[in-house]
Amino acid sequence: MKYYIMFGPPGAGKGTHAVAIREKYNLCHLSTGELLRAEIAAGTQLGLEAKALIDKGCLVPDEVVEKMIASQFDSVKGVEGFLLDGFPRTLRQAEDLDQILAKRNAQVDGVISLMISDELVKERISHRAAIEGRADDASEETINNRIKTYHAQTEPLIEYYSKQGKYHEVVADAPSIEENRARVLALVETFAE
Ligand code: AMP
Repeated sequence: MKYYIMFGPPGAGKGTHAVAIREKYNLCHLSTGELLRAEIAAGTQLGLEAKALIDKGCLVPDEVVEKMIASQFDSVKGVEGFLLDGFPRTLRQAEDLDQILAKRNAQVDGVISLMISDELVKERISHRAAIEGRADDASEETINNRIKTYHAQTEPLIEYYSKQGKYHEVVADAPSIEENRARVLALVETFAE
């Protein structure tokens, strides 16, 4: 089994381009944000607790997302690997993921990083707010906090995976989705099997 990570700030296009990669390489696309939004929609206790944090632009606790990911690894069948989108987001999650994968005799096979500027993050998210209606896209304060959270807690993963030779970055700032998708797929081809 292969394990790939979609990395990047909010609004970089991780979810959008994950679809193309998933299809090409027969992967299961796992988005922790989507899993959390499903819990919120189902009105579970976990969803209620997560919503309060998500609406503020904060991260939910590491254990919560790690449990969700591990349970998906256990239950999903019929794929050649997983494409993690929005996970890991902290150093602790990255370290724990290494342990979860070691137990499955596996490892992270590559990190696909989509880079855009903070300015473009703001532009893309306000555009998405009108289309998808996500509560955490609608408030400027929440968006600013998500950008801050990304720089403080998630950006250190660039060094973590670079040191392991697993970090692959593409600038995903083209105005058209097709152009960005072509860039992303060309990057993935350089290391994925
Ligand atoms: P996303 O859809 O990836 O933008 O995630 C939406 C929100 O869900 C984030 O702003 C976080 O509050 C929460 N979330 C998603 N993935 C994680 C994660 N790996 N760790 C902690 N919180 C997360």
